Amino acid sequence: MKSSEMESDLYCITCTEETPHIITYVNGNLESVKCEECERTMKIQRNIMKEFYKEVYDRISTKPSRITKEYKEDLSGFLYKLPIRVMSKPYRVINDLNESRKVIKRFKQ
Ligand SMILES: [Zn+2]
Repeated sequence: MKSSEMESDLYCITCTEETPHIITYVNGNLESVKCEECERTMKIQRNIMKEFYKEVYDRISTKPSRITKEYKEDLSGFLYKLPIRVMSKPYRVINDLNESRKVIKRFKQ
């Protein structure tokens, strides 16, 4: 949430003249206009919480796509590593099986 204030001379309906006003912006959107003479504040009807949640949601919702992008970029690396993992495991299994057979054979005799 970014809040900023700006001062400007505006026509006030209470003072019935041009007076300095404090204009408040939240996230670059007009939030309120306050007359510095009579302190009359005109609030802009806008749901600040909705705006806040939208900002949070936008921040969260952009994250999964970033993760997916990183994952996709790493996919070539992942696929490169994958066959080694797949190949080494059956080899180890076969080796163990052969060892087991030898042990079983020995015990059978
Ligand atoms: Zn005023």
